[in-house]
Amino acid sequence: MSGLLAALFILALFAAFVVLIAAQRQRARTGVPIDARVVYSDTGAWEKIEKPLFARRYNLTGKPDYIVEQNGAIVPIEVKPNRRASVPRESDVMQLMAYGLLIEETLGQNRAAPEYGLLKYRDTVFQIDFTDELRGELLALLDAMRRDLDARDVPRSHEEGARCRACGYRGECGQMVE
Ligand code: SF4
Repeated sequence: MSGLLAALFILALFAAFVVLIAAQRQRARTGVPIDARVVYSDTGAWEKIEKPLFARRYNLTGKPDYIVEQNGAIVPIEVKPNRRASVPRESDVMQLMAYGLLIEETLGQNRAAPEYGLLKYRDTVFQIDFTDELRGELLALLDAMRRDLDARDVPRSHEEGARCRACGYRGECGQMVE
């Protein structure tokens, strides 16, 4: 009998070990730090988010892939699994900063504002610090976007042919990069 109990105990230990390794691999794939607690995820991997975050003050909405709590700090994580780059794209940095602002406005009542976010590309995790300068850039960008909403004509903001070739408006916009 005691032999059976010992075998069951070893089996349970092995199962727990397998679950632990699987969880660590999952975290490595998503960029979630090992010592962080997942508050929510938009991927269904841990917990399904019901609706996007919304900040009335900035008329801004969005859903980060994950929000985790690390050493008492709230950290948004955005995952771009197919992107390879040695430096983060500016648009991704702005997206992450926007999530920082959304968290500050919606989840941050009793917490300090997020100080940084994590951007996970295929092979790299970038830590993006939410500096006053970056925050200012985002707020200026949001103002410019609101102005453009009322404009009759908005000039192209990039020189990326690949982006235009994949764009659904390339037949109509008249500014496609060849
Ligand atoms: S085709 Fe026009 S709308 Fe589309 S990405 Fe290029 S410039 Fe922008």
